[in-house]
Amino acid sequence: MLTPACRRQVRTCSGAVSALTLEYVGTRTRHMKLDILAIGVHPDDVELSASGTILRHIAMGQKVGLLDLTRGELGTRGNADIRDQEAADAAKVLGVSVRHNVGLKDGFFVQNEASIRAIIPFIRQYQPNIVLANAISDRHPDHGRAAKLIAEACFLSGLSKIETNWEGQSQEKWRPKNVYHYIQDYQLHPDFVVDITPYMDQKMKSIFAYKSQFSAPDSEQYAEEQKTPISGEDFMQFMYAKARVFGRYAGYEFAEGFNVAKPIGVRDLGDLD
Ligand SMILES: [Zn+2]
Repeated sequence: MLTPACRRQVRTCSGAVSALTLEYVGTRTRHMKLDILAIGVHPDDVELSASGTILRHIAMGQKVGLLDLTRGELGTRGNADIRDQEAADAAKVLGVSVRHNVGLKDGFFVQNEASIRAIIPFIRQYQPNIVLANAISDRHPDHGRAAKLIAEACFLSGLSKIETNWEGQSQEKWRPKNVYHYIQDYQLHPDFVVDITPYMDQKMKSIFAYKSQFSAPDSEQYAEEQKTPISGEDFMQFMYAKARVFGRYAGYEFAEGFNVAKPIGVRDLGDLD
């Protein structure tokens, strides 16, 4: 198995991860505890579905990091190098503490021991209380498969007999308290919604960082590429409409919706809207 450090070296040698991405991750990776680790199988999944929630929690003083499982190299528009740069740009817009890429194969990753062992070191390194994961089922089959893979990695990360390393150091077990699945393309019924009203504009800016994928300001250079279900202006209208629908459940203008795999507890019913 490759350790995270080895994987970064391999990808650096191949030029697969941009210098900017590595520089952005930089020196802040050691011994940093995160409140939330948001994981997506493709760069942009988190921005599309949970970036308002991330912005809200960063504004509350919490530390949030991002982990992409693949580089989205099978995407119809752009290419992996362009998407690396866009992911680094989006991370800056959101103000997250770190962003890493596991380097699994877009479209062809499988839920097996190797994939789980590749993810666990990141969970143990950052010890998040909460992990945000892909939608339980969705239009893109990678999303539902990733949802199961991430949830399983979070559980197995808590078993001490599974040994992992980070930059040559053995790691302690760590199981996040909760895994929440953000709703992306299919209109699943949410188990809870998060008010993102003050952060809607900044959420859209993080999405616009993916100029090769979406109809964004300054994305004219990609106008001649093939059209996809997400590349038109209508998709941006869908983003606002979806946020309004989720917001309506709880009386917010805009919200993001989440599903839970297990019931969640609350100590003060007054905390719920
Ligand atoms: Zn995706």
